[in-house]
Amino acid sequence: MKRIAILGSTGSIGTQALNVIRRHRDEMAVEVLCAGSNADLLIAQALEFDPNAVAIADESKYQQVQEALSSHDIKVFAGMDSIADLMEMETIDMVLASIVGFAGLRPTLRAIEHHKPIALANKETMVVAGQIVTEAAARNRVPILPVDSEHSAIFQSLVGEVGGVDKILLTASGGPFRGWKREQLEKVTLADALKHPNWSMGRKVTIDSASLMNKGLEVIEARWLFDIPAERIQVLVHPQSVVHSMVQYVDGSIKAQLGVPTMETPIQYAFSFPHRIESHLPRLSFEKYSQLTFENPDTDTFRCLPLAYEAIARGGNMPCIMNAANEVAVQQFIEGKISFLQIADMVEHQMQTAPFIVKPTLDDLFQTDAAVRVKKASSGRFR
Ligand code: NDP
Repeated sequence: MKRIAILGSTGSIGTQALNVIRRHRDEMAVEVLCAGSNADLLIAQALEFDPNAVAIADESKYQQVQEALSSHDIKVFAGMDSIADLMEMETIDMVLASIVGFAGLRPTLRAIEHHKPIALANKETMVVAGQIVTEAAARNRVPILPVDSEHSAIFQSLVGEVGGVDKILLTASGGPFRGWKREQLEKVTLADALKHPNWSMGRKVTIDSASLMNKGLEVIEARWLFDIPAERIQVLVHPQSVVHSMVQYVDGSIKAQLGVPTMETPIQYAFSFPHRIESHLPRLSFEKYSQLTFENPDTDTFRCLPLAYEAIARGGNMPCIMNAANEVAVQQFIEGKISFLQIADMVEHQMQTAPFIVKPTLDDLFQTDAAVRVKKASSGRFR
């Protein structure tokens, strides 16, 4: 029985992970559930899955959760510190890191330091602190199993190989604005950006998919997860989202993982690795797809992708600056304060002006993240 702690249980990935566990109760159980502020859903999940402990980041929700679970043998905590502290629990066998954004970094690192294998959905953790996280994982002999569908596909294409990788072919759906030009993007609304053609996901990652920042974050995530320079990671737009990514080897062979677009498959694989276990999910029917197409991304229009390549090439705290600027920009776009095209403008501006640190410590990264957010709040505008 694998006892799993879920960071971000109320989100898109968290709820799909609970679907997986619900169907495999003889092999997996929930040890800890953590959420941001959705107390109602956290309570419902706790009542169904009977974890050892739950934690909610929003401390004002503590009483509500505590009262609802008072007649059950479930410990209740509140605040970000207690979420990180819970990662030390001896009884946790694996942690699913599925909090969105920079907030996921601290509890994930704490879990690694306490020897917990990680199923990693929270790509921002790798973007911001890839070197520190991978070094901590190596030091503590902790596997980091990718949950992001592309990285799961790459991981699956690497199983059984011993080196010989030429390059990674990272596929992208292209999002709702594939083929659009800047003039068409000037007036797009939040509702337009949230209409993803193939995937149903949380808001932030859906908007990142529309701007192609998601693919930029994934290039950096892949760079660290698979220890390969970003120049050897090629993004290919594949609108059908059937080929989840590929690895090309030095002899010219290419291995790929294919499947229907659902996150439950990569979540389940991370939970069951190295084994494969039954899944009731629909099978891919090749008859349904008359063609699978591939094209290069339009990096003149979707500038977040080249900005991410630039950030990882410059290294240091630059990916952290880029990530913080993007998180702020996406939130502002959600709130209707900036236009869609201004997301890339804001990211670029911060990358040009925020103080650069060549070899940042973890503290430097926390300060960088905070400084970019504060700078934004005090100036009211980025540019
Ligand atoms: P959602 O927005 O749907 O969910 C985010 C989760 O994080 C929620 O449970 C939320 O709690 C919780 N949360 C937010 N802030 C905090 C905080 N400060 N402390 C504790 N918990 C917090 O996001 P997704 O599930 O879509 O994405 C999660 C991560 O997985 C992201 O990094 C994303 O890029 C990645 N990912 C997602 C995919 C998808 O299909 N959704 C695919 C591949 C990767 P609450 O709801 O209670 O506020």
